[in-house]
Parts: sequence; C-alpha cells; structure tokens
Amino acid sequence: MALVSSLRPVDVTVPSSFLDVLDLRVHFPTEDGVVKSVDGVSFTLEKGKTLGIVGESGSGKSVTSLALLGLHKGTRAQVSGEVWLDGKELVALPEHEMRNLRGSTVSMIFQDPLSSLHPFFTVGAQIAEAYQVHHKVSKKEARDRAVEMLKRVGIPQPERRAKEYPHQFSGGMRQRAMIAMSLVCDPELLIADEPTTALDVTVQAQILDLIRDLQQEFGSAVVIITHDLGVVAEISDDILVMYGGRRIEYGTVRDVLHTPQHPYTWGLLQSMPHLGGDVGQRLNPIPGSPPSLINLPSGCSFHPRCAFKDRVPDGRCTAERPELLPLPGTGEHLAACHLDPESKKTIRGGGTSRTEK
Ligand code: SF4
Repeated sequence: MALVSSLRPVDVTVPSSFLDVLDLRVHFPTEDGVVKSVDGVSFTLEKGKTLGIVGESGSGKSVTSLALLGLHKGTRAQVSGEVWLDGKELVALPEHEMRNLRGSTVSMIFQDPLSSLHPFFTVGAQIAEAYQVHHKVSKKEARDRAVEMLKRVGIPQPERRAKEYPHQFSGGMRQRAMIAMSLVCDPELLIADEPTTALDVTVQAQILDLIRDLQQEFGSAVVIITHDLGVVAEISDDILVMYGGRRIEYGTVRDVLHTPQHPYTWGLLQSMPHLGGDVGQRLNPIPGSPPSLINLPSGCSFHPRCAFKDRVPDGRCTAERPELLPLPGTGEHLAACHLDPESKKTIRGGGTSRTEK
C-alpha cells in the first residue's frame, strides 16, 4: 500500500499504482441541502491485491464503489476528484468510453444476485451475453465460455445448469453465477459490494475462498465493500475504514486489526461475534446512529458517539476536525483521531484485537 495523502503533489500527472483514487467526492444536491456521501476519499491498490472498505450503512462505501464504475454519470450526483485506473482517469472519461471499460476492465459483483440476474433468461445466456458485449465471438463460442466460467466457479454439471433460470439456483449458486458473469471478461479490477451478506456462514466462507482463488488465478485487483470486519480479515490486504463519507483509518489488515487506532474501528471490532467466544456472548453495538451526511457534527464527526472524547483536552474533539495522519514510526497506518498514542494504548490495554488474518 502506498500512502496517499488527501492532497495530490502538484508535480504528479499520472499516479503510479494500478488504481489511484485521489480526493474523491460524490455529493447529491437535495431540497434539504447537499448530501456529502463521499467527501475527500483517497486510496491506492495494486494488481493482485485486495482492499476492504468497511463502515456502517451510510458511511459512503457503496457510493465510492459506484463512482469507481462511473455509475454516477448522468445522475444528479456531483462527482469530483480523480480515479486513475492503469493510467486512465475515469471521473472525466466520457460515458461511452466508460461503458467499454465496465464489464471488461472493471467489473462488479452485486449484493443481491436475484435482483441482478434477469429472471426471464437462462443463467448461461446472461453470462454469454456479458461476454459477447465485449468480444466479437459467435453465439456458440460465447455459450462455451459461459459453461467454462460456471465450471470455474464450482457449479456442478455446468452444461445443464447453464440452461436453467436464476430461480432454479440456490442463493450460493446464484452468487457463484454472478461471480462467473463478473469474471467472464477477465476484469483487471473487480468490485464486490457486500458479496456474502445474504448467504449463510458456510456458503459465505466458500464464496470468499472462491473470490480469493479466482483473484490469484486472474491477478485482478479487488475492492470488497462490507460492514463486516470478519470478511475483510479473511480476504483483504489493506483496510479503509469510512465514517460519514470520510476516511477515518487506513492501513494493512494486520495493522488495522491488531493495533486499531480509531475508537470507531474499536467499536466495529467489539460489535462482531468471534470464534471461541461463549455461545451466549453479548455483542456491544456502537451506541447512537451514523451522522446526517447533510450536517456532519462539528470537529470529529464521530464525537457524538465517542466514549473517549473527554480524554482529549480543550474540547478539540467537538471543535477541530482531526486529520488523517500516519502513526508515529509507521509510514502506512493512518488514523484521524485527536487521542494521543499513550492514551490509545491505555484504553486498548496493549491494543490487540480479536480478529486477525
Ligand atoms: Fe473520539 Fe475525539 Fe478521536 Fe473523534 S477525535 S474518535 S471524538 S477521541
């Protein structure tokens, strides 16, 4: 992971990582004011690596992923900043060029395969069509490719299943079919938005294994959007934690999960169940609700929910927005919190988490 500050050096024209997102903003004007769903988000990703973007509903993670696909073009959304993919800037790219990239160079696995797969067409026909949009091949070649993809994602009897309709597939099989459709054109960037939310735990583990295996096979970069730190622990190399449309912690999986530096990340970790815990273990949800994206709280936007704001002197938490800064002694673990490192260590009691890769 290369450290990306929110300010872009003036002498850089084309960033060097495979994916460079720089100061991305997605704002929606409404009658009540401007909804700042994404407000100054930056990150990088290399091919063959996975970034997990984590946060509660309304944190801006899904809106960020749609911006990577250029899906806000033609809507009321105001998108600014830069998204560089393999040397090409996508925010300013005309829609017809973006359409060529979508499904081929960049592809997405959506949360709910039942609403993403068309109920009137067979699964094989839909995968074949996704292939034909970007390749000049005959119908038979496209059909063969669809069967091959179903086989690669572990669907038994793929020739027969290709002729079936989405409702004839189980939830896990439908998600596999969606993955087959997303990968049919060998995308270089794969975005997975809550790909396992609707699945039971066993199938969830199988789907995560599948994404990881296919990523290794295809060498793609993967962005996985989730509210579940367990999912990112399983699959990611880096983690970006978002709150109120902004980055609040960013680092490698090991750093963020072993030595989390932001009280919101601590809250996310404490609100997840963990293996080896009591059957009746109580989870500790983060108190309060996510903030309004029209009127973010002053200072640190997490302060109304933060149990530690009184440990920071002079009311800084309510008055001054913390910058996302690297931890002393680390180049690439960043957090936006006014608490000093000693206080964090005392609060965390050494600072190890229950989740590790
Ligand atoms: Fe809590 Fe203050 Fe840190 Fe925000 S800056 S997370 S309010 S301690």
